[in-house]
Amino acid sequence: MHLKKARAYKIKHSYNVKDSITRYQWILQLAIDYIWENIDWVEKKVRNYYTIPKTMKNVKLLKQQGKKFKVYGKKIYVYYTAKRLIPKIPRSPKFVKELRDYLQVFWKQTSYASHYVDSAIRTSYWILESWRENYLNSKFKRRKPTIKSRFARIKNSLFRVRDGELILTIVPRQIYQKFKLDDKWFYDRIKDWKLGEIILKDKELILMFTKETEDENISKVIGWDMNMFTMDGYGDEIGAVKKSIKELYRIHITYHNKRRKIQKMLKKNPKQAKRLLKKLSKRERDKVRDFIYKFTTEIAREFQDYVHVFEDLNKEAMYNRSKKHNRNISLHDWRKIVEVLKYKVKVVEVDPKFTTKTCSRCGSLNTVVKNGTVKCLDCNLEIDRQLNASINIYLKGKGLKLSHENWVKLGLTEDVGSLGVPPNGAEPDDVSPMNPEGNEGDVAQGEVG
Ligand SMILES: [Zn+2]
Repeated sequence: MHLKKARAYKIKHSYNVKDSITRYQWILQLAIDYIWENIDWVEKKVRNYYTIPKTMKNVKLLKQQGKKFKVYGKKIYVYYTAKRLIPKIPRSPKFVKELRDYLQVFWKQTSYASHYVDSAIRTSYWILESWRENYLNSKFKRRKPTIKSRFARIKNSLFRVRDGELILTIVPRQIYQKFKLDDKWFYDRIKDWKLGEIILKDKELILMFTKETEDENISKVIGWDMNMFTMDGYGDEIGAVKKSIKELYRIHITYHNKRRKIQKMLKKNPKQAKRLLKKLSKRERDKVRDFIYKFTTEIAREFQDYVHVFEDLNKEAMYNRSKKHNRNISLHDWRKIVEVLKYKVKVVEVDPKFTTKTCSRCGSLNTVVKNGTVKCLDCNLEIDRQLNASINIYLKGKGLKLSHENWVKLGLTEDVGSLGVPPNGAEPDDVSPMNPEGNEGDVAQGEVG
């Protein structure tokens, strides 16, 4: 299998790069502004839905109003069509040339290398693409992205590595900055790797190394289903595995409660309260990050010779547009886990459509998802919900069709469903104070897909 591995390392620096970053930000924002003004907004009708509790009264009312709806679990999904403006981001070569010429006019007044302009263009597209995705998922408003964090992305034409030293061009043929690499702890790990890109910040440098390998060792596949308390896997040779991520949940709850206490003093002492809240948020983010780094390191070590298959969590949001606070926090953590894992192992993302609802044995959608199990009405399989999802993800990752034959070929038996591994440390009555209903994630994905 052909692989592109990537690793990122940070080094601190004490150079004064304030000016270069400020100018980079300025050109980056100019690029975004320019592209934004040239976006073509196309009006389109889209189908959307909202949910209301399932009651006789609601059903009756909806029937009277002649609305389209579907009952599922304890909820009613009410469908409607709305007009939306879909952005078409201009990206023709002609347009990009125009943009480049426009930016060069400004950039030429500085003495910095013109390669920074190309990097800014690439980064601006990347930012707008990610804004667009969030906008289409109704997460962002129709508002132009503005650059807040201070960084500059630096292409490989602006630096070189020689004799264990990184040399970065600031002003061509005049100003170079040198960073020693061979005394860094990670040097041995990246010696024969290629330095692909650098992200320059005020006090640190993030180095992105890549390596192309033909890796015959990696042929095993593991599919992962993300849940609030656990990451549920199904893999070659090992079968079902369960990894607890309950610590993340615990962190969020702890800080949620701390914030609530402080919010009470918001009226009396708003200034101090705001300062404390900000501090708490930062500490929460740090704790989450630390856990995720540690967790992904363990996963990467334990399953280093596996291809890790996940649902594409950006698309996931399209199928399961839960407005629930908790779920959004989880989704955010899951994305981060996948993102970090990508630096450590080979990750493949698959379409999340119907991964919960589909019977992993016969492929039928004629299933009932209830109380943590999936029951297939066609082939009578009864299986743990998370296990079913992880098998589906695993099979999608392998590019295999869902069929009885494949089940048998893979050595899956009816018993696999009754493994009934309890979620690590997760009690059935673990109910979040943020979400008193406690039925997080019970809605089958793909229900409205
Ligand atoms: Zn079935």
